[in-house]
Amino acid sequence: MVTALTETAGRLQRIRDMLEEEELDLLLVSPSADLRYLTGHRGHPSERPTLLAVQPDRAPLILVAGFEAPGVSGLAGTDIVTYGDAESPYAALAGALGRLPSSATVAISDQTWAGVLLALQATFPDATFVPASPLLRRLRMHKSPQELALLREAGRRADAAFERLVQGPFAGRTEREIASRIDELLRGEGIEQAEWGPIVGSGPNATSPHHSSTEREIREGDAVVLDFGGAVEGYQADITRTVHVGDPGEEFRLVYDVVRRAQEAGVKAARAGVAAQQVDRAAREIIQAAGYGEFFTHRTGHGIGLEDHEEPYIVEGSSLMLEAGMTFSVEPGIYLPDQFGVRIEDIVVAGDDEGVRLNHADHDLIVVR
Ligand code: ZN
Ligand code: ZN
Ligand code: ZN
Repeated sequence: MVTALTETAGRLQRIRDMLEEEELDLLLVSPSADLRYLTGHRGHPSERPTLLAVQPDRAPLILVAGFEAPGVSGLAGTDIVTYGDAESPYAALAGALGRLPSSATVAISDQTWAGVLLALQATFPDATFVPASPLLRRLRMHKSPQELALLREAGRRADAAFERLVQGPFAGRTEREIASRIDELLRGEGIEQAEWGPIVGSGPNATSPHHSSTEREIREGDAVVLDFGGAVEGYQADITRTVHVGDPGEEFRLVYDVVRRAQEAGVKAARAGVAAQQVDRAAREIIQAAGYGEFFTHRTGHGIGLEDHEEPYIVEGSSLMLEAGMTFSVEPGIYLPDQFGVRIEDIVVAGDDEGVRLNHADHDLIVVR
């Protein structure tokens, strides 16, 4: 469904133009979502460095251990430079690059091992290294129609897993058992496993937003925060719903309704031309007005794409202007210490008038067995 080669070739061309505009001499990208975005190659970080090297005025090259070269053949427009185990990868890189000015500025991707960066600094002692993320995020924040289709499909599969999950019993099962059930349902949907979660926080554990599932047995009267994801061709899903085991009391119903309305307000505010912080404020104002402001302890959301947390961050202080086609979570929560927690999360695409959800699982309070 994705014409991957054409997309990555276009991205590499755009990044070369950006290097030119920003007067950067070289971009180095290590195995990460950045590398996958630009080349389609995942690679893996190791003591044998893999590096994509892009200079404004010549074809990009990939430095890779000789025996791993078959894995990078056929990547759009990139030359391959290899090194043997007894050779210095950094000498091979220096030899293959076009001439660098003596005081070159080199942009390097955030997820580069410190050891690799230190070796590069020793190889190019007069160069100034700067983070590549300001450049790369400008590209990666804008999702193409193909990327949006993959994110939508990932959301659909996560929704389907949730809908099946709540048909089964919760009481008497541990958080870890529910987490494995989620993994099983996600596998059934053909989703690639996420590098995190699933988060299953029951009873008092639901008050910790990034709780790791434990052996705690879930019982009648618990609220359970369920937060999980996975990916389709690398594009991530991320959904949270909070269910209640047996009939909830008055306060839980009230808090649930506040979070539901806050989430709705955030989605409505997620339109092109507003600053990211406006989405945070729209959700937070509802929670503050209800008197629970101090119990909403995190930002409202994060961008999503090839990574489950990326730009744009939906947080007070971010004046980044949203543009149509940017994708991020809207996930307000209220966490009452020693009592319960509630969070509702959908991925949305910023639209011209309001955000468009990529998750459609029910927002009404679901009472499970
Ligand atoms: Zn989170
Ligand atoms: Zn989540
Ligand atoms: Zn999230």
